[in-house]
Amino acid sequence: MSPRLALFGCLATSLAAGAIACSRADSRTIGSLVGEVAVADSTSSAVSSPVPDAPTESAAATASAATAQTAAPNELGRIPVFEYHLIGDKNGVYERTHEGLRRDLALMYQRGYRPISVAELIDRKIDLPAGLSPAVLVFDDASPSQFRYIEKNGQLEIDPNSAVGILMAFNKAHPEWRNRAVFCMLPAAQAGRAFFGDKGIEGQKTEWRYRKVQFLAEQGFELCNHTLYHARLDRAGAKVEEYIARGQMAIDSAVPGYTVRTLALPLGMWPQNRELAHRGTWRDAKGRVVGYSNDAILEVAGGPSRSPFDPQFNPLSIPRVQVIGDSAVARALTMLEKHGQRYVSDGDPKTVAKPRTTAARD
Ligand SMILES: [Zn+2]
Repeated sequence: MSPRLALFGCLATSLAAGAIACSRADSRTIGSLVGEVAVADSTSSAVSSPVPDAPTESAAATASAATAQTAAPNELGRIPVFEYHLIGDKNGVYERTHEGLRRDLALMYQRGYRPISVAELIDRKIDLPAGLSPAVLVFDDASPSQFRYIEKNGQLEIDPNSAVGILMAFNKAHPEWRNRAVFCMLPAAQAGRAFFGDKGIEGQKTEWRYRKVQFLAEQGFELCNHTLYHARLDRAGAKVEEYIARGQMAIDSAVPGYTVRTLALPLGMWPQNRELAHRGTWRDAKGRVVGYSNDAILEVAGGPSRSPFDPQFNPLSIPRVQVIGDSAVARALTMLEKHGQRYVSDGDPKTVAKPRTTAARD
C-alpha cells in the first residue's frame, strides 16, 4: 500500500491538468507526465520485488498438503477479497501482468479456492463442496486493460490478455470456477477509465461501453459502483451523494433495473459523514430525486475479510488484499493456513461449521 504515492499522484493530477478524475491508476499514468515517474517507479519496484512463486510442481504439492492440513471445516474463518487494478505487461503497485493474473487464478484453484461475489459474501451464499474455500476477486477502475475489445472483420472479440478474457478462458477450462469476479467501475473518469475505455483510448470505442457492462452482468460478474469519476469522497463536501448516485445511475443506464449493492471507496477514503457512503439521495437538474443504498462497502486494504458468519463481520467495511507483485496471493493464502484462519466449507449450506479451537478468532 502506498497511500502517499496515491495521494501525491492525485494532487499532481489535479494541479497539472485541472483534472477531476483521480483514479489511483490514473494518478500513476498522469503523475509520470509531471515528473513523478522516479517516485512512482522506485516505490513500485520496492514494493513489488518479484519473488517467483508460480505454481510449479513442488508448489502444487505444497499447496495440496496445505489444503489437506486445513481441510477441517471452519466457516468462521477468513475470506480473502483480492484487489486488482491494471492488467498489463509489468507488475507494480497498481498493475498485475497478464501472466501473473493467470498464475494467481491457477494458484487459487489448486489450493482449493473458488470465487464468490461480494453479494454472495454478504448474503452468506457460500455454497461450496466440503473442503473448499471462497475467495473474492475485485477489479477496480474500469480500465481497458480489464475489458478490451479487438475488432476483427467487423466482429468484436474480447482481448484474451484483458482481465475479462483471462477470466472467461479460465472459466471455460474449469467450469466450477464460476464467473463471479466483481468489477468496481467508473463511468466518467479520464484516461479511458469510463466503463473500460472510450474516445479511441487503447482502441476502445465510446459506443462499446454499455455493451461491455451488459456482457459482464449477463455472464454473472457483479457490477460495483466506484463513483462517477473517482473523486475523493473525504473532500467531496456536498457532492458526495451526487458522485455515488451518478455512478449507480450510469450502471442502471447500461443495465436497466440492475441492483447495485456494492460500493468501492475511491482510494479508500470515507466521506466526512460516513453514512452517506451507505445511503443517500441526490436531486438532478430536472428535480428528479435519485436514492441509493449500498449493502456492502469495500475498503482499499486491511487483509482478509472476516466470515459473514462471524458476529464481528461488517458488510459496510470490508477489507481487501491488494495484489502487488508475484507473491501477494500465495502469501495471503499461506498466512491464512498458517494461522488456522482459512475459511473452509463443510459442504452443507444449512450449517455453520465452527473451528475446533479458537485459533481462527482474534
Ligand atoms: Zn480506484
